[in-house]
Amino acid sequence: MVTSNALGPLALAARYPRVPRFVLLKMDIQRRGLALTPAALDAVQAPEWDYGRSYVIYGQGSAARKNAPGPLLLRDGTSVMVLAGADYADGYTVDLRDGAFVLLDGDDAIDEVEFTPRPDYYGKRTSRGVPMETVATARPQRLDINPYRHCHFWEGGNQCRYCAYFTDVKATSALADGHVARKVDPEDVYETVREALKEPGRFSQVMLTSGADPSGTQVFDDEVERQIEALQAIGRNFRGRRFASQLIGCAYDKHQLRRLHDETGLATFCPDIEVWDPKLFDWICPGKAKWPGRDGWIQSALDAVEVFGPGNVYTNAVAGVELCKPHGFATEDEALASHFEACEFFAKRGVVYLSLVWIPWRGSQLHGQAQPSLEFYARLVLGLHDIRKAHGLRAHNDDYRHCGNHGDSDLERLD
Ligand code: SF4
Repeated sequence: MVTSNALGPLALAARYPRVPRFVLLKMDIQRRGLALTPAALDAVQAPEWDYGRSYVIYGQGSAARKNAPGPLLLRDGTSVMVLAGADYADGYTVDLRDGAFVLLDGDDAIDEVEFTPRPDYYGKRTSRGVPMETVATARPQRLDINPYRHCHFWEGGNQCRYCAYFTDVKATSALADGHVARKVDPEDVYETVREALKEPGRFSQVMLTSGADPSGTQVFDDEVERQIEALQAIGRNFRGRRFASQLIGCAYDKHQLRRLHDETGLATFCPDIEVWDPKLFDWICPGKAKWPGRDGWIQSALDAVEVFGPGNVYTNAVAGVELCKPHGFATEDEALASHFEACEFFAKRGVVYLSLVWIPWRGSQLHGQAQPSLEFYARLVLGLHDIRKAHGLRAHNDDYRHCGNHGDSDLERLD
């Protein structure tokens, strides 16, 4: 990957003292990537670190031919959602030195780091023989479930241009008999969550997301049906009560949202806008532009506020992708202005707008494009945090404990 690499985390920490060094480091690791030295890779094969052949969302292959560890943890507990071993030209490295994992930038040792401990349910199987780690993957404190592992936007080339989602499903989600599951059986979902919850104090939220499927009597009806089925299966573990959860879904209409709220224990909903600028949205997200269009995605978020309540609806932006060539913004200032306009628009209406660091994955149409500077992300997370705070919004269900993927919600730790 090609990166625009001006100031690093230390220099930016001095320039932006309200953005902690650990948050800057996290975003730079996400932006530039992470590799493991052979010694570190050998070490993470140990039972306490080995995440096995767990299903990986952004599939670029696991590190070398060995098992990959879970999310990286910085010394202050900040989690870094980064896929170790992907295709990074200028990434950070983790080495094993004197029995400790050490983060390196080139030859410079930055800090000691850890990996997320392997959860107790990994290595176990459901009653159908399905490895539980292929049903739900674990972040430090969150379970991630993909009930349907195929995005129909890829058919006809309508996928989002930055997306490499589910491209490795065939390699990583095989059942015990080698069969590849596109749809996860709800009973496997129920049993896996039941088993995961036995680990004391480990998990505090379940997140669901699937590939988009516009089919059905109404657009997305079939997808909503599957989401309800999976959520009801999880809900059996909570005796039908509402449980700490997030569904990252598509632009559902009010009836579909009402069904999700009334027929399941879902707590929060997240239709991702991805790109705010109307022209760039249409260019970068052709599937979303078609089903049902940018206005429909915005309306779905606003309707969801009526159903789930203010502060219980989220939307994510793939921050930085709006600068990609040839149609993207020419300057980082213009891109930032677009994000702040979006955040203000949504915050006024009770929707939490969060940013994700854009990675030009191999397998996406934007592979090889330059990423924005780390300073862009420093200014972005500060601005988004301040706008939401001014509107009394907190990302309570998408914060560092639950998700750990957003530099801007990490800043709420200081509020
Ligand atoms: S909706 Fe877009 S980002 Fe999501 S899986 Fe489909 S192509 Fe990828």
